[in-house]
Amino acid sequence: MQAQKYNAASASLGIVGDVADVKTTTSGGIALVGGGGSVNAAFKWMIQKSGGGDVVVITASGSAGYNEDIYNMGGVNSVQTLNIISREQADNDTVANIIRNAEMLFIGGGDQSNYMKYWRGTKTQDAINYLMNVKKVPVGGTSAGCAILSGIYYSGEDGSVVSDKALNNPYMKDVTLYNNDLLHAPYLEHVITDQHYLARKREGRHVTFLARIIRDWGIYAKGIAPDEKTAVCIDQEGNAKVFGVSKAYFIITDPTLPPERISANQPLQWVSNKKALLVYEIQGNETGAGNFSVADFSKEKASGGQWYNWYVENGKLIKTAALENKVKYAMVIHGGAGTITKKSMTPEKEKEYRAALTAALKAGYEKIKAGKSSLDAVEAAIHILEDSPLFNAGKGAVFTHDGKNEMDAAIMDGKTLSAGAVAGVTNVRNPISAARAVMEKSEHVMMVGAGAEKFAKEAGLIIVDPSYFYTEKRWLDLKQAIKEDSMKSKLDHSFSPSKLGTINRDYKFGTVGAVALDHNGNLAAGTSTGGMTNKRFGRIGDAPIIGAGTYANNNTAGISCTGWGEFYIRNVVAHDLSALMEYKGLTLEEAGKTVIKKVGDMGGDGGLIALDKYGNVTMPFNTEGMYRGTVTEDGKIEIQIYGE
Ligand code: ASP
Repeated sequence: MQAQKYNAASASLGIVGDVADVKTTTSGGIALVGGGGSVNAAFKWMIQKSGGGDVVVITASGSAGYNEDIYNMGGVNSVQTLNIISREQADNDTVANIIRNAEMLFIGGGDQSNYMKYWRGTKTQDAINYLMNVKKVPVGGTSAGCAILSGIYYSGEDGSVVSDKALNNPYMKDVTLYNNDLLHAPYLEHVITDQHYLARKREGRHVTFLARIIRDWGIYAKGIAPDEKTAVCIDQEGNAKVFGVSKAYFIITDPTLPPERISANQPLQWVSNKKALLVYEIQGNETGAGNFSVADFSKEKASGGQWYNWYVENGKLIKTAALENKVKYAMVIHGGAGTITKKSMTPEKEKEYRAALTAALKAGYEKIKAGKSSLDAVEAAIHILEDSPLFNAGKGAVFTHDGKNEMDAAIMDGKTLSAGAVAGVTNVRNPISAARAVMEKSEHVMMVGAGAEKFAKEAGLIIVDPSYFYTEKRWLDLKQAIKEDSMKSKLDHSFSPSKLGTINRDYKFGTVGAVALDHNGNLAAGTSTGGMTNKRFGRIGDAPIIGAGTYANNNTAGISCTGWGEFYIRNVVAHDLSALMEYKGLTLEEAGKTVIKKVGDMGGDGGLIALDKYGNVTMPFNTEGMYRGTVTEDGKIEIQIYGE
């Protein structure tokens, strides 16, 4: 280790570490640091890319503080600070060669107008550009050093302009902008950086700079602003991550939305329907938060942050949350609709329902997360609900008038429009798997009764004794339903209890269904049910009828219905919803509302769940409650029961 005094000839403020020049394999990258203190995580990111070579820090402020700081982080051969404070020094071959030999370069804070004044058009400028574009080593800068790293930059040579003044007069003399005459960092040609957003409230001036650039040069430049103690680290592919304690901002301008008024002595007006600028905000962390593609400023590639719209109304900057923040759902499930009220529920029962629905969503989400298909997710979630006695599907299915459990199920693949269904099965433990077997292992779409059971057995599914499906609760429901039916027929002679077999329609609650969207953008939907208590004569409901209770189409949505099945069949509810989207251009929500209204207008009741290809969810119902739950693409689970 060796320290030196300031050597004006080489501009060196000293070197720590091994003075011999080493050569290492490096990879490129740009670290934009917001000032207000070092971001060690960003230094580590750069050191890693330096391959352990020699670090050079350049500044014009006379301090060698970075030497020890960076060297003590370990992993580099040496750190040397150059204080380049004249054009002669900046044009000196010794100085330029020290820079060229660096495997990592960091530009300190200070006054960027000095950097412009001393370095522009010199060998120092060429050396920095060589490091970034030819030798490809990590180059970073903090505060003033960050300001000059973008192709378009604010020099501040007439004093640092504050937001309010710039917004009120975008042509005030302090707004001094330069285009493409100093540093040429990869991806930053049409970018202008700024810093110190929170402490110095610089957003307003940054926006003013962008407006000026559009107006003066016709360039729809983009903005990047790391806040204090925060860094935007951009890798060789142009992908940025945010390190540090505060936030970073990525500002997108839109060529169809130029400023409405930008002239001298007049407050800036840039409203554009309140969407003038689209801003992505990422909260930094130690390991590098979020993703933002600085290569193309693509909205779609951004993740881990929040979108905002910024606009300027008569010199005032206004920020609003942007539509792009909408959460994307991976899966939605239901456990039946009916007269489910808080009054009729005990806290213990509610807990059990929530736990079962949560377990089903977790099972489905695990599949999606593991890259499995939406069909796998739907089947896995429905298995959990079929195996739970709480729901009217599988174990816990309701009884027919004759005291049997006859179950229906269907599944559909939104990609291929393949579908499978079984109806009236009495001994298949998981009817949803029988439906899937019909879809995948037969040439048919729907199988019923004994034939379906035979097929399920041959397909290797678990066959159980019909007594497996017995639950005392459902048995008592049947007794009660039969009693009410006979009383009603005594009171009203015209009433024919066997007509629909559904007058006791509230003794069902708990058909189950699931719709999922997988990583390939494929939708799938499934439904499984015991039907309706007291049903007669081989009655089949809507659940296994493709287009009535179950439907999925990648072009529109996946849908699973629950409710008074006869009305769902007559309204072809699930396909009607899809058709309203496809032929009438309705949104998922509008289409869902429309079809449930049709059911209600006809005298039916129930609900549905639907998920579209964009990850939008809707769960309309006209009953008092519907067991339902969602999981978002990042795994957040939400359960609802009542008509909240
Ligand atoms: N839709 C089912 C059926 O009619 C019952 C329900 O969803 O509650 O079979």
